[in-house]
Amino acid sequence: MKSYRKELWFNTPTRVAFINITPQVQQCLKDSAIREGLVLVNAMHITASVFINDDESGLHHDYSVWLDKLAPHEPIRQYRHNDTGEDNADAHIKRQIMGREVVIAVTEGKLDFGPWEQIFYGEFDGQRRKRVLVKIIGE
Ligand code: ZN
Repeated sequence: MKSYRKELWFNTPTRVAFINITPQVQQCLKDSAIREGLVLVNAMHITASVFINDDESGLHHDYSVWLDKLAPHEPIRQYRHNDTGEDNADAHIKRQIMGREVVIAVTEGKLDFGPWEQIFYGEFDGQRRKRVLVKIIGE
């Protein structure tokens, strides 16, 4: 069995951002030379997500609005977690909802997606360097 590992780094200019990372994951798969297997992609931070959905800007706006209704950033003091001196309790909650990781089948050297599926990095406490792990195993 072959195995491949890579970290993708991000530093978003805004606190919240959604980035399509499908091209980077496809490049990892190409570099791995694995034709049949599995790709795991996970955020390495507890205030960021990796998820699969449509690359449609209206939907991403809808996610932001929906997540802010569930867990508004302000007022900061409404969260017990922020008693630690941090201000990112909402980001932890948003990450939990949007998920930590995705797994994609690899078939004949390609990501075996359903219709319109793309991989996204979801940032909820950005403006600093953070990373995503790509792990590929197979033959
Ligand atoms: Zn925190």
